[in-house]
Amino acid sequence: MPKINLKALSKTEMKEFVKAQGLPDYRARQILHWIYGKRAESIEDITELSKSLRQKLSHAAYIGNLELMSRQTSKDGTEKFLFGLEDGESIESVLIPDEDRLTLCISSQVGCAMACGFCLTGTIGFKRNLQAHEIVDQIITVMRIRSQGITNIVLMGMGEPLLNFTGVVEAIHRITELMGFSKMRITLSTCGIAPKIIELYQKAPHINLAISLNAATDDVRNRIMPINKKYPIKVLIDACRKIPLSPRQKITFEYVMIDGINDMPEDARRLIGLLKGIPSKVNLIPFNPYEGSKFQRPSNDKVLAFQKILIDGNITSFIRKSKGQDILAACGQLKARYKT
Ligand code: SAH
Repeated sequence: MPKINLKALSKTEMKEFVKAQGLPDYRARQILHWIYGKRAESIEDITELSKSLRQKLSHAAYIGNLELMSRQTSKDGTEKFLFGLEDGESIESVLIPDEDRLTLCISSQVGCAMACGFCLTGTIGFKRNLQAHEIVDQIITVMRIRSQGITNIVLMGMGEPLLNFTGVVEAIHRITELMGFSKMRITLSTCGIAPKIIELYQKAPHINLAISLNAATDDVRNRIMPINKKYPIKVLIDACRKIPLSPRQKITFEYVMIDGINDMPEDARRLIGLLKGIPSKVNLIPFNPYEGSKFQRPSNDKVLAFQKILIDGNITSFIRKSKGQDILAACGQLKARYKT
């Protein structure tokens, strides 16, 4: 029988495993605490268990770990981690320090099927969904090698999280229940899989949602985000209106600004119209270039003018600082080891 990876087990599965080993229930809690709280890398590390028990468990199971294949640091302090998975695939995570925050941006899939025209990950194509433990292990591994605590988690790395719905919901469950992270410090970013947005709020209420809107008309959005043909802007915005937000919660709308494509003053005015009545804020992300990309970043003046129109229209709006560009760690620049 192949050995069981204890990190791959849900809470219920861990209880079953412990029972099958002829052990009492509390051992499940103990092992989970050592994996998620103490970040044990092997069964041998769980020193709370007797040596003989550790040996016994090691015959049936092991603790799998992501393989840290490289770690790069940007001149602005952003770090990019390349992780190898058990089947030889690879993913990236990005750690972003910003004043009193330390945000870890994690991946949900190997590659991505969405093929957004401005995103480097999209050019890899889709390889596979990450399993819940491969999503969570990005956090565990970075916490193990960095002493400073992570304050925020964003599901904004490689992949479309809502197309790996089961894996992502289970990962959120483990991050909150087993690692003790507040849901309010987790943000999931989606290209807009409308039906799944509503379902997410039933399965993982209170987490923050970011929607990659990136255009204010279907014409432009169809051109840069093929998913818009399936879930056009109206369908997407209607889904957002149905989300039962908590009193001070807002939906973030991300808007990648691409020179000459979606950065005109009338785009800003249309955006104000679209978001009317939704508790929201807009994150403007000036396009991050990469080798072979066909788009350009607009001038700072254009970005500021766009932001001013939004603010004058009573829409809270921020310009996202582009971090880690020199190591291809900024939004839309993750490609792991894949050739594009
Ligand atoms: N699939 C998810 C999460 C990954 S993309 C989503 O679509 O939201 C994370 C964010 O990076 C999205 O808002 C996306 O629009 C943005 N992005 C992608 N490529 C970019 C680029 N080249 N420059 C700036 N932002 C980009």
